Amino acid sequence: MSSLQLKKPALHPELRFESKRLGTVVCFSPEVVAHFVKHRQQGRIKTEIGGQLFAQFVKNEVRVIRATGPNTTDRRGWAWFRPDQRIQNVEIKRLFENGLHFVGDWHTHPERKPSPSSWDLESMEDCFKKSRHQLRAFVMVIVGQAMFPEGLWVSIHRNNGFEKLAINMNGAVSAIEYSSKPQRMLHEG
Ligand SMILES: [Zn+2]
Repeated sequence: MSSLQLKKPALHPELRFESKRLGTVVCFSPEVVAHFVKHRQQGRIKTEIGGQLFAQFVKNEVRVIRATGPNTTDRRGWAWFRPDQRIQNVEIKRLFENGLHFVGDWHTHPERKPSPSSWDLESMEDCFKKSRHQLRAFVMVIVGQAMFPEGLWVSIHRNNGFEKLAINMNGAVSAIEYSSKPQRMLHEG
């Protein structure tokens, strides 16, 4: 059938992360993973960029299927990023009408293995104010320069602190396949 020939193989696997504390799985669809990869801070991309994460809730899973941003009106520099909150609030309302819940933020860092800055951790307070979904935590993704999953920070935040999520090994086979792609290594170093 011709439709089979047109169907491209998924370039990126779904990535699954697990919260030991909440028993929740946070997974990122292939499209969302592709969005992160595309915006990694390397090559021509000289500034931090980012956006918002939107998900559907299925049983104990938070399925992140949409990553928005960057917006042209965001303010950004080499190691900082301030999104346009007016546009972000409009996004939250618009996607909520389509059944997608705002669950967190993503942004890039100019480092191989990303970890949150103190500002990143403090800004999670803002996120709580914006959120009104049933997830009892807020997702923060930081996209580093190294290949995934090494180059991806995923944490969930609550009033009383945060938890760095571990990649779920059931999905790790495809993650290893992904990380061995040679063209990505040319930019490393
Ligand atoms: Zn940051």
